[in-house]
Amino acid sequence: MKNFYVFLGPPGAGKGTQAKFVAKMLGIPQISSGDIFRENKKNKTELGILADEYIRVGELVPDDVTIRMVGERISRTDCDAGAILDGFPRTPNQAKALDKMLEGMNCQIIQVPYIAVDEEELVERLSGRLTCREQGHVFHKKYNPPKVAGVCDFDGSELYQREDDRPETVKHRIRVYEQQTRPLIEYYKERGILVKIDGNQAIEQVTGDLMEMLEKVDESNG
Ligand code: AMP
Repeated sequence: MKNFYVFLGPPGAGKGTQAKFVAKMLGIPQISSGDIFRENKKNKTELGILADEYIRVGELVPDDVTIRMVGERISRTDCDAGAILDGFPRTPNQAKALDKMLEGMNCQIIQVPYIAVDEEELVERLSGRLTCREQGHVFHKKYNPPKVAGVCDFDGSELYQREDDRPETVKHRIRVYEQQTRPLIEYYKERGILVKIDGNQAIEQVTGDLMEMLEKVDESNG
């Protein structure tokens, strides 16, 4: 059985940062729907152009497009041992579609870390966030600055502020999260696979809590 993890939480909770770390630890890919959209935008594909109309105003990309895209991605062989899903699912429809896809692949969602962060903190984090052009590594102007200003520590590419990280769009993204994504907390809680993590803590502490969660999964599996 291949195990998938779904990282849940509002925009700015640190899902991407933590998901990258955990994926490396477990030796499975981190799949970020937002990163795939941005990659498509960069390459000016039809999907990228369509998605950007929604992304730039802080709306969700329609379910059918998103589900198809993630479905194609998780069917690749590098997900044979599982994957970390970061930013997907974001609606009840997507969650149901994911269940169906995983069932067909003989896979399951083993844990859903829900990284909870207060709204004030989210706005502060997102509006100071810097993203790398090449691989989507993230930094923060104040809390997690790169070693050299404007340059990614990991791949040397340029750091920029995402258009949807501007203050006016950030607030709207949080509203969209509250309306469309928050119901997933209950969805996974009912299944007994939701683990709440305090995302207000420093990056290393959040990672520590996630590690503890993974150890427990390991123990209960074997
Ligand atoms: P993220 O990088 O996860 O913050 O995503 C950036 C933007 O991409 C979101 O605000 C949405 O417009 C779009 N997006 C990413 N993932 C999804 C998803 N699962 N469903 C719909 N839209 C998404």
